[in-house]
Amino acid sequence: MNRISYKRELPVIGEYDVAVLGGGPAGVCAAIEAARTGQKTVLIEASGMLGGMATTALVGPFMTCYDRDGDRQVVHGIFDEIVERTASENGAVYPSETDAPSIYSSFIKRYHKHVTPFDSFALQLALDDLTREAGVELFFYTKFVDCEVSENGSIVSVVLDAPQGLVAMKAKEYIDCTGNADVAFSAGVPTWNGGEDGSAPQPATLFFEIDGVDDEVYAARNARPPRPVKAYKMPEKGRYKVNHERVYFVNANDARSMTDAHIEARRQVLKSFETLRSLPGFEKAELTQVAPVLGVRESRHIVGEYRITVKDVCEGTRFDDSICVFGYGMDVHSRDGKVSGGFHGESANMYEIPYRCLVPKGCPNLLVAGKTISAESQAAGSLRVMPACMATGQAAGAAAAIAASRGIAVGEVPVGELKSNLKAHGAVTDIDE
Ligand SMILES: Cc1cc2nc3c(=O)[nH]c(=O)nc-3n(C[C@H](O)[C@H](O)[C@H](O)COP(=O)(O)OP(=O)(O)OC[C@H]3O[C@@H](n4cnc5c(N)ncnc54)[C@H](O)[C@@H]3O)c2cc1C
Repeated sequence: MNRISYKRELPVIGEYDVAVLGGGPAGVCAAIEAARTGQKTVLIEASGMLGGMATTALVGPFMTCYDRDGDRQVVHGIFDEIVERTASENGAVYPSETDAPSIYSSFIKRYHKHVTPFDSFALQLALDDLTREAGVELFFYTKFVDCEVSENGSIVSVVLDAPQGLVAMKAKEYIDCTGNADVAFSAGVPTWNGGEDGSAPQPATLFFEIDGVDDEVYAARNARPPRPVKAYKMPEKGRYKVNHERVYFVNANDARSMTDAHIEARRQVLKSFETLRSLPGFEKAELTQVAPVLGVRESRHIVGEYRITVKDVCEGTRFDDSICVFGYGMDVHSRDGKVSGGFHGESANMYEIPYRCLVPKGCPNLLVAGKTISAESQAAGSLRVMPACMATGQAAGAAAAIAASRGIAVGEVPVGELKSNLKAHGAVTDIDE
C-alpha cells in the first residue's frame, strides 16, 4: 500500500480533568457522573446530537433494565434520570408500565419484560439538558481521530477533527465511549473485531419509524410481524420503531464496507415497509423517517484486565469489583444469515460486570465503557444493550473522577470507594444489594 507521512502543529483548544469521547448512552452517563463530582469534564461527539444509536440510528426501545425474569429493576442511577426526564416531555413510557409479550416488546416474551419505549427527539432534548445541568462542556460535530501516547502508554493529548479543522485537547483521564473503541485502538490497546474466534460481527440494521398504525388491531393480532421485521410501539399513539432486516459481514472499520452496507440497508427498508403494510392494523401506516445512521451491532472489543465470559453470564459469577448488575439474555443475531440467531445460552437471572472489564490493557489513563468493554463476543450480546451501556458509562465516569482527583492510574482506583460513590448516586453495583 502507498503511504504518506504527515506532520503539523495543532492548537490545543482545552485542558480538562476528564475527556469523554463519544456521546452515546455510555458517554452521556460517563460525562454526567464525572462532571457531578466536580471534575472539569468535556464530551466530544462526532454527530450533532447525544444518544448514539438511540438517536442517530433511531434504535429503541431501551431493552430491559430488569432481571431476566422481569421481577426486579437492576439498572437505576442516571438511567432512571434519563427515563424520567424524557417521560416528563411525554417522550418515554416507564419500564414498570410495559410488559411482555405486548406491542411494546414486539410480542417477544423472553428477556423483553419492562422495556422502555421512547421518542428519539425527546431523548435528544433530555440529554442536552441533563449534560449541561451537570456542567459538562459539549463539543458536537467533533470527531476523535488520533492520540499522542507517552512512553508508559498514557494518552498525552487527543487529535480531533472539529468544524474549525484539526485541533488537539488534553485531559488527565480519557473515557472511550465511541462504540467502536476508536480511542483504545489508537492508543495501542489490543482489540479484536466481531467474534474472538475470528467469526464475523453481528449484522447491521437500518431502523425506521412509522406512524398511523391501529394499535388496537395490532394488539389483538397478538403476534409479531413476520421475521425478521420487528415493530416496537413508541410512546405516541400509532407510532412504531421498526428493527427490520439485516446486512451481514459489515466491517465498521472500513469505509467501503460501511458504504455498501448502508446502500443495501436502504433498499431493505422499502421491502420491510411493504411487508408491514400488508398486515392487519398497518394498512394506513406511513413511513415517517429512516435513520440517517446505520445501526452497527458489533465491531471492536477491547482486551481489558478481565474479560467477562459466557460462563460468567450463565452462572451469575460474583465479583468483588462488580460495578453493575444486568439480566438481559445473550442476544446474538446470525452472523452470516445461515445459522439462526437469537438468544444463545441460558443466562442467569442476574449477573455482575466487574470494573476490570472497563480497564484496558496498557493505557493507565484510559477507561472504556459501553458495548466495547472487555467481554467475549457472545457475552457482549447481552451487555451491548443500552441500559447496561449506561451503567458501565456511569461507573467509568465515577472511576475517572477518582483517578483524576488523586492522580492515580485507572487500575489503582480503590474499588470500595468507587462502589460507594456509585451507590450514593443511585446505581446498583451488586446482585445482593
Ligand atoms: C440494529 C440495532 C438494534 C438494537 N436494538 C436495541 C434495542 O432494541 N434496545 C437496546 O437497548 N439496545 C439495542 N441495540 C444496542 C445499542 O443500541 C448499542 O449497543 C448501544 O447504543 C451502544 O452504546 P454506546 O454508548 O456504547 O455506543 P453508541 O450508541 O454507538 O454511541 C457511540 C457515540 O460515539 C460517537 N462516536 C463514534 N465515533 C466517534 C469518534 N471517533 N469521535 C467522536 N464521537 C464518536 C457516535 O456518533 C455515537 O454518538 C441495538 C443496536 C443495533 C445496532
